[in-house]
Amino acid sequence: MPPVQALNVLPTAQWGLGLGRPLLIAGPCSAENEAQMLTTARAIKAGGRAQMFRAGSWKPRTRPGSFEGAGQDALTWLQQVKAETGLLTITEVATAEHVEACLKAGIDMLWIGARTTPNPFSVQAIADALKGVDIPVLVKNPINPDLQLWVGALERLHRSGLRKLAAVHRGFNWFERTPYRNSPMWEFPIRLKAAHPEIELICDPSHIAGQVDRIGTVAQQALDLGFGGLMVEVHHDPAHARSDAEQQMTPVAYDAFLAALLFREAAPTAGMRDDLAQLRDLIDQLDEEIAQKLSARMDIAERIGDYKREHQVAILQPERWDSILRRQLRLAGQLGLGDAFVREFMDAIHRESIRRQSAAAEEASSGLRSYADNGQNG
Ligand code: PEP
Ligand code: MN
Repeated sequence: MPPVQALNVLPTAQWGLGLGRPLLIAGPCSAENEAQMLTTARAIKAGGRAQMFRAGSWKPRTRPGSFEGAGQDALTWLQQVKAETGLLTITEVATAEHVEACLKAGIDMLWIGARTTPNPFSVQAIADALKGVDIPVLVKNPINPDLQLWVGALERLHRSGLRKLAAVHRGFNWFERTPYRNSPMWEFPIRLKAAHPEIELICDPSHIAGQVDRIGTVAQQALDLGFGGLMVEVHHDPAHARSDAEQQMTPVAYDAFLAALLFREAAPTAGMRDDLAQLRDLIDQLDEEIAQKLSARMDIAERIGDYKREHQVAILQPERWDSILRRQLRLAGQLGLGDAFVREFMDAIHRESIRRQSAAAEEASSGLRSYADNGQNG
C-alpha cells in the first residue's frame, strides 16, 4: 500500500465562499420539485442557521423503482434558491456528466455519495472531469467500512488539482443491528483525521441516525469529537418526502435541533489550558491503570488456560462467559456506563483471552509434537 502523504488541502475558511466553522448545510434528501425546494429553502433561510442548501439532484437508489431525483431540472431550482435566499448550493455528483451539468449551472460545491466513493473508476471519472476546476468537493465515506477507499477517493481528487476538499461521515452499512440506520463506527473518521489532520470532517447525522429523534445525539457526538460541520436533511413536509422521509426534519425542528447543540472550540484557548492539562493528567493515569489491570487479567486468563488444558476442558465456556457479562452489565448500570459500550469492551477482552489461551494451547501441543518426534528419532 502506498505510504500516507499529507494532502495539500485548504481549510473551509479559505474556500472563498465565506464559510466558517462550523459549516452548516441543510436541505432535502432529494430535489423533488420547484415548490418543495423553494419552500424548504425560504424556511431554512428564515431560521438563519445554515450557510448552504443541499439537495440530491440525481439520487443513487439501492433498488430500482424508487424516486431517483429530478435530474437536470433540479439544478435550475438550486439556482433559484441561491438567487432568492442567498444560500450557497451543493448537490451530489456520480458521473462526469453530472459534474459538467453542475459546473455549467454554477453550483457552489459538490459531494460524492457513499455509493460512489467505493468505486475507484467512478471517482476517477469525476476527478478527471474536475481537472483544473477550483470547486470544493465533499467526499462521503464509502458505504462499507473501508478507510482506504475513503482516503483513496480524496487522493484521486487531490491528484486532479483540487485543494478544497473535506470528508463527510455518514456512517457505514453493518450486518449487526445497531440503534442507527448506519453504524457510526467513530473510529473510522477518527483514524482518517489522525492520518490526515489537514482534512476537515463534516458529519451527516441524518443518514447515521435514520430517524429524526436520534439525530441530535449523533450530531452532538460529532461536535464533541471536533467535527467542523454538519450536513442535515431538512424538508418542508417530511411526511410526503419522496426519499428518506423518516430522517428529514422540518425547518422548525432543524432550528430547535441546532439551538440545543453545544458547539465547542476546535482547540483549547489559552485560559483553558491549565484545567485541561490537569484533567488530561488524570486521564493518562487512569489509562495506565486500565492497561495494568488488563495485563493482569490476561495473565490470569492464561493460567486458567493452562488449567483447562491439563484437565482437558474446552477453552470456550459459554455459560461462564454469559455470567461474567451479566454481572458486568449489572455493574455498568449502577456506574452509569452504557450497555453497548460495556458489551463491546467485554467482548474485546474475551476475544483477547481466548486468543491467548488458544495460542498457549497451540504452543504446548507443538511442544508435545516435537517431543514425540524427537522420541521417535532418537
Ligand atoms: C444523501 O446525502 O442524500 C445520500 C444519498 O447520502 P449517502 O450517499 O450518504 O447515502
Ligand atoms: Mn438522503
